[in-house]
Order: sequence, then C-alpha cells, then structure tokens
Amino acid sequence: MKLEQLEIKSRRREELIDVTGPVQKYIEKAGIRDGIVILYVPHTTAAVTINENADPDVTRDILYKLQKEIPQQDGYHHGEGNSDAHVKSSIIGASTQVIVADGRLLLGTWQGIYFCEFDGPRTRRLQIKAISD
Ligand code: ZN
Repeated sequence: MKLEQLEIKSRRREELIDVTGPVQKYIEKAGIRDGIVILYVPHTTAAVTINENADPDVTRDILYKLQKEIPQQDGYHHGEGNSDAHVKSSIIGASTQVIVADGRLLLGTWQGIYFCEFDGPRTRRLQIKAISD
C-alpha cells in the first residue's frame, strides 16, 4: 500500500492529538484486511505514541509530567530554544506500529494513537504505511 501523509495542525506548544480515526480511515481506504500499519513522524520536536483515550486527564498528566521533568528552560546549549521539545521527541519516539486484523486497528479497548506536539503550534505530518499479509 502506498505511503500516505496526514496533515496535522497543532494549536498549542504542547499537545497530544488523537489520530486514531484518520489512521482507521486510511486502513479502510487502502482496503487492508490483515497486516500492520507503521506510523512515522518526520519531525525532531514531535512524536507518536499509544495511550488511553477514555479519560482526557491521562494525556493531560503525560504532558504535565514531561513538562515537570523536562522544563522548557534548563541551561540547554541548542540556540533554537526548543531543546526540551527535542528531548521529549526522543523519549516518546518517532514511530509506532499497530496490527490490523479484519480491517480494524487492533488496539486495546482504552487505547488511542496520539500525535505528540512538543513545539507548536505548527502544521505537521504523520507518515503512514500499511503492509498487508
Ligand atoms: Zn531545535
């Protein structure tokens, strides 16, 4: 299946954006029944992760803890002033993958896929590639 790119517009400096719906739509449009979908973030101050999408306090708490442990100002050397975003991007990671079964993302009941913005607001890309059985 061909590579697809989702355009994501973040509205805040730090934000976790639920992209489960658009990824599921891609699977359906691609006609993938069984296989794997790879999600890749081609940015150095953003990331992708899977976590709870039932209680919004969970994503709030993830951002809260990252901000507490990795403050925006902390004697960094990088001149752009966004070293905290680079560190958060590396900790969370630039890619993830999800199994596709019977045309559906095989996520747990309470799981969603999140694009993680750490240096917004910006227009971002999430690359998606599915491999069918
Ligand atoms: Zn930078």
